[in-house]
Amino acid sequence: MADILPFRRPRASDRHRGNTLCRHGHHKWSIDKERVFDTRQGCLVTRLRCTRCGKTKIRLL
Ligand SMILES: [Zn+2]
Repeated sequence: MADILPFRRPRASDRHRGNTLCRHGHHKWSIDKERVFDTRQGCLVTRLRCTRCGKTKIRLL
């Protein structure tokens, strides 16, 4: 009853490895096409999202 299935450990370590890469600045950026126009900037921008940690950044075109 109290036994924990071992399959959770690899998943946790795998996520930790991804976060470690992100902390070192090695984000896996992917272009988020949902929003390409930033009203605050008033110009077209490209929003990039990290597929691992979900961090987003905006790059001016
Ligand atoms: Zn990241």
